[in-house]
Amino acid sequence: MSPLLERFRTYIPGDIHDVAAKVHLMAGFESCKGNTLADAVWNDDKSALVITFSDGSQTTLLVEGYRLLTKCSCRLWQPARNCPHVVIAWATLKRTVSPGTLAHIKFNQQMLLDMKCYTDREPAPVSSAADGDTAEQRKLKAGLSEARSLRNAHLGGQKLSSVLPKVPPQFRLVIGMGHNSNRFSGRILRDNEIVHGWTAIGIPTDLARFMASNSSYESTPRYFKAFLKMTGGKYPIIFRGAEAHETALVYRGDEPRRACIGFDIGRDEVIVSRSLDNGSPIPVGAVVHDGLLFVPETGSIYPLENRKVWRQWELVVDELDLLNISHPYDESCNEEKKDDDKLYDDSSQSPIITQEIRPLRHAVAVPLSLFNSAGIRLNPELFENMEENYTFLLNGVPVAGPRPEAPSAYLLELPHGVTQPRAPLESLGLCN
Ligand SMILES: [Zn+2]
Repeated sequence: MSPLLERFRTYIPGDIHDVAAKVHLMAGFESCKGNTLADAVWNDDKSALVITFSDGSQTTLLVEGYRLLTKCSCRLWQPARNCPHVVIAWATLKRTVSPGTLAHIKFNQQMLLDMKCYTDREPAPVSSAADGDTAEQRKLKAGLSEARSLRNAHLGGQKLSSVLPKVPPQFRLVIGMGHNSNRFSGRILRDNEIVHGWTAIGIPTDLARFMASNSSYESTPRYFKAFLKMTGGKYPIIFRGAEAHETALVYRGDEPRRACIGFDIGRDEVIVSRSLDNGSPIPVGAVVHDGLLFVPETGSIYPLENRKVWRQWELVVDELDLLNISHPYDESCNEEKKDDDKLYDDSSQSPIITQEIRPLRHAVAVPLSLFNSAGIRLNPELFENMEENYTFLLNGVPVAGPRPEAPSAYLLELPHGVTQPRAPLESLGLCN
């Protein structure tokens, strides 16, 4: 995804009030009722979008780190105050990446469709050798040189308009594995330097106040609520993954996720997984830490409820593992299955039929025969809240759970009583 669109996803709709002077905001909102867009082109890495308006004005939005730089060619534009074009561009982009937001603005539907269409395009190749005679090429080159000069001006320290002028953008909360440790944690950073809570020198007041009352990082809803409340959500929350790749995250405190265990029955194996809500898989890149679920794929942090149920997932896996060790490897059976498998699925790189448990990121894959012979012992105390905590799926699709309102028992008769170690049984049928 484009770094610019990525940045727009993390804005809250209320950020629009910092985009421009109030008079330009009002004019921009009013203009959104019509379609004033003529064209928009990306620069090569999609960090800048150059928008041409029907009145000929050219507006550039460029993301530089966490800062959004804006410039417009119209006569109204001034640094920090911006202009109505910047407001229209900001609002239309935010609405495009987060449909349904900014509901108070009456958008022209065709303008939204056009913006979507422009931003879906790939950056047009600009060949330096070509004479660039076509109008299209001239426009593109003008726009791209505008983006370049905007970036150079910024790097050169010139005063430019920034959408968040009041925010020192170099401060951020960075979450991930520690530099020198394997411990998942969070730190407040100024650029790449750790900010410590014991000194308030050079630290914005709101951040210093937060750090004074929350001296150490916690993966808890309480910590994130306090961080957002005390700093007004001004500082980005960043997930630092493998190879220091950084992703901006949004804390979604009102969308808690619920831990459950999924049993997904497939043709050859059962996937026993730690899953979410009604059996949705945990995204591959997600990290569970204490009371929170971090999902870089969707740029979200969720409170995680009912996490204790995953301890039972570990118990189930332990039971299967015990059997895995004692289960004799049946060569002939395995060979036969391998051939069988090839008939249906010769595209797979390695045969998925093995007699062993395959560990996955948040799950284990258990061969059907092994799963069936495990006969996992159901301790009723262990398996409380059956319906909410366990989801049964068939090839990834949830199937109806047990209905607790209609408990039934199956009656068995011992016609001759218990007289020997083994006694015959006779079925008497279901009893409600
Ligand atoms: Zn303008």
